[in-house]
Amino acid sequence: MKIHEYQGKEILRKFGVALPEGRVAFTPDEAEQIASELGGGTVVVKAQIHAGGRGKGGGVKVVKGADEARKAADSILGMQLVTHQTGPEGREVKRLLVEQGVDIKQEFYAGLTLDREKVRDTFMVSTEGGVEIEKVAAETPDKIIKESIDASFGMFPYQARRLAFALGLEGIAMRKATAFFLALYKAYKETDATIAEINPLVLTDDGDIIALDAKMNFDDNALFRHKDILEYRDLDEEDLAEIEASKYDLNYIKLDGNVGCMVNGAGLAMATMDIIKLSGSEPANFLDVGGVANAETVKNGFKIILLDPNVKAVLINIFGGIVRCDRIAQGVIDALSDKDMQVNVPVVVRMAGTNSDQAAQMLEDSPLSFIVGKNLKDAAEKVVAAAEGVA
Ligand code: GDP
Ligand code: MN
Repeated sequence: MKIHEYQGKEILRKFGVALPEGRVAFTPDEAEQIASELGGGTVVVKAQIHAGGRGKGGGVKVVKGADEARKAADSILGMQLVTHQTGPEGREVKRLLVEQGVDIKQEFYAGLTLDREKVRDTFMVSTEGGVEIEKVAAETPDKIIKESIDASFGMFPYQARRLAFALGLEGIAMRKATAFFLALYKAYKETDATIAEINPLVLTDDGDIIALDAKMNFDDNALFRHKDILEYRDLDEEDLAEIEASKYDLNYIKLDGNVGCMVNGAGLAMATMDIIKLSGSEPANFLDVGGVANAETVKNGFKIILLDPNVKAVLINIFGGIVRCDRIAQGVIDALSDKDMQVNVPVVVRMAGTNSDQAAQMLEDSPLSFIVGKNLKDAAEKVVAAAEGVA
């Protein structure tokens, strides 16, 4: 799960991570109010969306005084903010963070995530702050310094010192950075975060080390033990179909193609996407309906797939192992015969496993016009042709 910057900062503050003062605003009035509470000096008005690159896209404004804060808020709220992470359509800004402005002496990067190969948390820092870290990693990888952390021991103070030293910090700034890194690791660990990224982390003219930006993502499977974090969920930022799918416990991820896929099993779903690509089209989604492909799951799966207007044909690819193919075929027929189902795109079905011949016959015999695939390759070619309108 993703959250907004201001929410991430609320969490980090509880763990003692150094941050500028600030609060969320939903209206220009609120922004003005917060700016005057902050003393009426320089404030930063920042668009809150679940995407980075807001600075470049015009979603971050450094202004002086409450009146200017109000004007900045007025211009950012409601804008369709386009960044390299939003896609060309951008994202509507509905919330702002109004924060105390700081004078930046130096910008750094600090990030924490899991290194799956090492089976260790990895703490990365770089002197190349405030820019896209992916670019730094691609062009000057030696400018990213890493420390591996064994979760069973936690982060040792010497590791934090080593990172601070790598940034060229000395004296009080070095001590502040060390404390910052230890607090950031604690926050990351105790909230079951999958990412905690501070870009930029800054050294201010006053000699403080503080987080100007904060990005935190969390492990969905651990959210049951973080009810407070779950409350930060912002459905406005999530894809409608993905929200629907999460209600039914279906694993759905929207993609950009035009062939809808309904598959049982994540591995088979991946293979199905591959073969659709090989056959010349692009999948519109990943959808794993899980082990029980009955009428109910098929129906819910279809509703979600058809929410996407790009879908021009659907491929149902089911392996009947524990559940027999004839029962699944009956489920598919029942689901699509349902009065409130309006399927107006061609549907190709491929089933393999127990009683698959019987299942194919049932589909052929049903009044619905299914296209039956003899095997996966045949089914993929048929659905691609159907999506292109040649079949
Ligand atoms: P992002 O572009 O979505 O990653 O948003 P950031 O939170 O990183 O903000 C973008 C940029 O705004 C930062 O890299 C800083 O250069 C600048 N910025 C943010 N807060 C301040 C501030 O308090 N003072 C100054 N001078 N610049 C700031
Ligand atoms: Mn940033």
